[in-house]
Amino acid sequence: MMYYSTNGKAPLASLEKAVVKGLAEDRGLYMPERIQRLPGTFFDSIQDMDFHEVACAVADAFFGEDVDRDALHAIVRDTLSFDCPAVKVEDGIFALELFHGPTLAFKDVGARFMARLLGHFRSGERLNVLVATSGDTGSAVANGFLGVDGIDVFVLYPKGKVSPIQECQFTTLGRNITALEIDGVFDDCQALVKNAFMDPELNARMKLTSANSINVARFLPQSFYYFWGYAQMKRMGMADKLVVCTPSGNFGNICAGLFAKRMGLPVERFIAANNANSVFYDYLRTGVYSPRPSVQTIANAMDVGDPSNFARIIDLYGHSWEAVCRDISGTTYSDAQIAETIRDVYNRTGYLCDPHGACGFRALSEGLRPGETGLFCETAHPAKFKDTVESIIGAPVAIPEKLQAFMRGTKESTPLPKDFPSFKDYLTKKSN
Ligand SMILES: *Cc1c(COP(=O)(O)O)cnc(C)c1O
Repeated sequence: MMYYSTNGKAPLASLEKAVVKGLAEDRGLYMPERIQRLPGTFFDSIQDMDFHEVACAVADAFFGEDVDRDALHAIVRDTLSFDCPAVKVEDGIFALELFHGPTLAFKDVGARFMARLLGHFRSGERLNVLVATSGDTGSAVANGFLGVDGIDVFVLYPKGKVSPIQECQFTTLGRNITALEIDGVFDDCQALVKNAFMDPELNARMKLTSANSINVARFLPQSFYYFWGYAQMKRMGMADKLVVCTPSGNFGNICAGLFAKRMGLPVERFIAANNANSVFYDYLRTGVYSPRPSVQTIANAMDVGDPSNFARIIDLYGHSWEAVCRDISGTTYSDAQIAETIRDVYNRTGYLCDPHGACGFRALSEGLRPGETGLFCETAHPAKFKDTVESIIGAPVAIPEKLQAFMRGTKESTPLPKDFPSFKDYLTKKSN
């Protein structure tokens, strides 16, 4: 299958090219040429399948032409080394817990799949993944690629600007993961990565790639767990009139859900829950998309003022605002509302949401119509936002063993100044 660019000015790309390049030449996002509808028989028996079987059927539909079956199914098995259970929070509202992976957030799924697919396509030469992070992306990507043969990962992060919990998730891994502590801010890290991709000398010397969240190999596999969420709801007899809510920032996660719907997943409609960064909510209200600088919130992984995957969503709906509005509605919540929701849900039900999931829960509790059942993506474990959540509920939040293990590890990182020549010099020496 070929992939086209949402900007329409780049040549079609093979899956391999789309995955290695990430972004098309015209700076558009790659989209699969066809979205295959899964047969009715699949949905008739989905409740009797396990996560791996469900995910393999979906993976075959996207990647079956380009990756041989055994290799693809092995990639799926390796990626989904953890469950994504649907858990009842209260009557009619369930959480699809996407935080049981190595770094306790949903980004593990896409990062692990992409790492393994890149490993599959690698042709002899070592591949170098450069990733700039303000915290969470670095940990998901570093852990996703940990131990993948033939690939080296360089995580650039701003010195003193990521939380100790985040930092230990990519500085203690060793093996093929190198952490670079940049004496600057996140934008400096991002600029270094961009400059490296544009530097002809460096690119002639070593094969560089990004693991950006817009990569098709990171975003498409996220559709696996929407099917799995549906399968579990159906098993519980709760799949009629199912409404799915995704706490959204860059809109990659919900976009994968919309692809699932296009493949026939019987979901009534989607809700995109935003924090105070309400660009998409405003688009749904007005039909006008006006990106603006992001504002900082306690659900900080959704602090995005110009979501990249907006381009994919409008492409999927043929640039029709009406069509988008038929499948998706939106909500926006202030920090005070998010905090109130975390506290209220915890006190009433004992379920502890993280700040992102709390937006999802609230959107369902306010927006479900009679007869509908809601499933929201719980995108991260509350312990990832320990200080925030503890101050909201006034009680300690236990840190899962997986996170504690990172914190016991020895931090290893290479300090670097923020100028490009120093970074280039560093990479050049590495490639010798
Ligand atoms: C990245 C992230 C989001 C936003 O997901 P998008 O795909 O960017 O919309 C939501 N919650 C958490 C915890 C995240 O890490």
